[in-house]
Amino acid sequence: QKRKNENIGLRFQSAAAGAMALSTCVLPSFSPQAAVLRRTSTVANAAAASRIGGFLSSKPYAPPPWASGLSHAPSHTFTLGHFPTPIHRWDLPELPRDTEVWIKRDDLAGMQLSGNKARKLEFLVADAAARGADCVVTAGGIQSNHCRATAVAAKYAGLDSYLILCTSKPLVDRDPGLVGNLLVERLLGAHINLVSQREFLKFGSVALTELLEKRLLEEGRRPYVIPAGGSNALGNWGYIEAVREIEEQIQLSGGDVQFDDIVVACGSGGTVAGLALGSQLSSLKAKVHAFSVCYGPKYFYDCVQGLIDELQSGLNSHDIVSIEDAKGLGYARSTAEELRFVKDVAAATGIVLDPVYTGKAAYSMVKDMSDNPGS
Ligand SMILES: *Cc1c(COP(=O)(O)O)cnc(C)c1O
Repeated sequence: QKRKNENIGLRFQSAAAGAMALSTCVLPSFSPQAAVLRRTSTVANAAAASRIGGFLSSKPYAPPPWASGLSHAPSHTFTLGHFPTPIHRWDLPELPRDTEVWIKRDDLAGMQLSGNKARKLEFLVADAAARGADCVVTAGGIQSNHCRATAVAAKYAGLDSYLILCTSKPLVDRDPGLVGNLLVERLLGAHINLVSQREFLKFGSVALTELLEKRLLEEGRRPYVIPAGGSNALGNWGYIEAVREIEEQIQLSGGDVQFDDIVVACGSGGTVAGLALGSQLSSLKAKVHAFSVCYGPKYFYDCVQGLIDELQSGLNSHDIVSIEDAKGLGYARSTAEELRFVKDVAAATGIVLDPVYTGKAAYSMVKDMSDNPGS
């Protein structure tokens, strides 16, 4: 039996993402006066923005017909990523015979926003703007991709960002400095609140973001809170919409490509919840598998259940997704074997996996495919 897999989750934990911002495209004849004139005619601007591709603008959103029964359907989207992202064959080394793996390149959604967070933020940022927010608040680990993507997306929409970042106590006291995503956030002028792992676990990200929201309200700001990972009912729509995108890409292939399984890394659960729901409701009907890189499967079955309940899907998470543990040594810690896999995949296919998420998911997927052929 021919089995085809697809890995949606290729994304980079990129330390170099900030470099992009420095090479701006400047129009030499753009005088300050012209800038003022243009800014005064916003209607013409919106039309021009749409003609030139509609990037970084708010536009109305209509859910796919098969998702019309779900609640919290967004009314608008704010275009942050380059979509559709490509799908191509991925000849991973040592795949079992008669098996094909294809990859959906969500890492190509846009460098500064890289990957799955862009899809969620398109809806979250549109909502923040529609509600008249002047800043966003969110939380995550010290090198959180979600926090970096949120800070970029917020700036694109003209909003400030307030980030609660969790790290070890010595680093809170000493300050981690200008490294990786934190460097990008500081270049963007994000407001950083460092919290020790102990405090983060004790209070939880929800209470901490609420506390910061309260303080900002008292200061007269209009904050919009985005949960850790951007995973809530609204953010979920990013990956419901991704399923429509995949459906359309399959149609374009003339039906030659069909996928039996979809495999992703799972960190806060939003990506897999949206995909599993979409795959179930749409014509895709692929089996969705998640490999968790932080907590265990039980935690994520509950988490996906919470997300799909919020959308009033009436479905059971155990029926629409299979979740397995791939955390190995723990979040953001890799074994030598996992790192060798990342190296071998890069050398064989040109694709550089991030070791925190997709590296572990792909490693576990290949292992699972050879341990359980045909399942
Ligand atoms: C956040 C993230 C994931 C996990 O997505 P969730 O929706 O949080 O489960 C996977 N890969 C990368 C690179 C990420 O940044």
